Amino acid sequence: MLSYLHAFHAGNFADVQKHAALTLALTMMQAKKTAIACFDTHAGSALYDLTSERSRKTAEADAGIHRLWSIRGQLTSPDWQPLVELLGSLNQGSETLSLYPGSPAWLANFGRPGDSVTAFELHPSEGRHLENWADKSGVRVVNQDGLKGLLKCLPPAQPRLLTLIDPSYEVKDEYAQVAKTLGQAWKKCRHGVYLIWYPILTSGLQQQLIAGVESSGVRKVLRSEVMLDQPPERGMVGSGMLVVNPPWGFDQRLSDMLAELEGEARLGMSASLSWLVPE
Ligand code: SAM
Repeated sequence: MLSYLHAFHAGNFADVQKHAALTLALTMMQAKKTAIACFDTHAGSALYDLTSERSRKTAEADAGIHRLWSIRGQLTSPDWQPLVELLGSLNQGSETLSLYPGSPAWLANFGRPGDSVTAFELHPSEGRHLENWADKSGVRVVNQDGLKGLLKCLPPAQPRLLTLIDPSYEVKDEYAQVAKTLGQAWKKCRHGVYLIWYPILTSGLQQQLIAGVESSGVRKVLRSEVMLDQPPERGMVGSGMLVVNPPWGFDQRLSDMLAELEGEARLGMSASLSWLVPE
């Protein structure tokens, strides 16, 4: 039974880190002309209303994308520019953001004509929203389990692969399942770029994912983490991304982007970056 709805969390600090890494990876891969097959194994509903009851109930976007938007003029890394521009055009130049794109929308907007996007979503109502949105976007929507679905699609027809794995981790064994799926996917497409999001929890459950990836045989895994300066006593205290086969120079550029979010006057978090598994 799926109960997680991303509308309660869209645009929070974790989404800022995740979508910064996702769009940076895609735009850096586009330095080469060859087509990219993009897969989003847990897509959500693609477009979120930040003024909705769900979003306002948690107000998580206030400390995330709304804060980023308020400091956009001070950001010096040029890699923030494409994100800021997309948010600006989606919100028709408004001073306040009311719409926020989810991962399939970031991929579709940054994709080139030869690139493809396949989005998996298992939740029935999220899947319907996604299908309605995808109608005009060229994104292929599949209402199936994203981990199993990904494996069926690999290796892709296009020469290059970008995959986002962003589960809701409602089931405890999802951490181990994600590590296992990554190992299987990597064997089918070793040159693919895989981005995996995980929550950093006081319970430490995410260690199952980290340990699983370390023992999976997958090489060249970058680990980016952002930790809240004022974390809750229990629950999610930070956000992590594993990036397998990042484009050359991605680590420095992501580190420069996330360093700009540090400090109380920014997003109130500290960022770290290291190699979980070297080449
Ligand atoms: N990736 C989205 C983004 O960045 O905007 C957010 C995705 S949200 C964290 C996780 C989504 O995965 C939820 O919409 C949930 O319904 C969906 N989901 C849960 N289990 C799934 C599964 N086995 N296969 C595909 N989707 C699943």
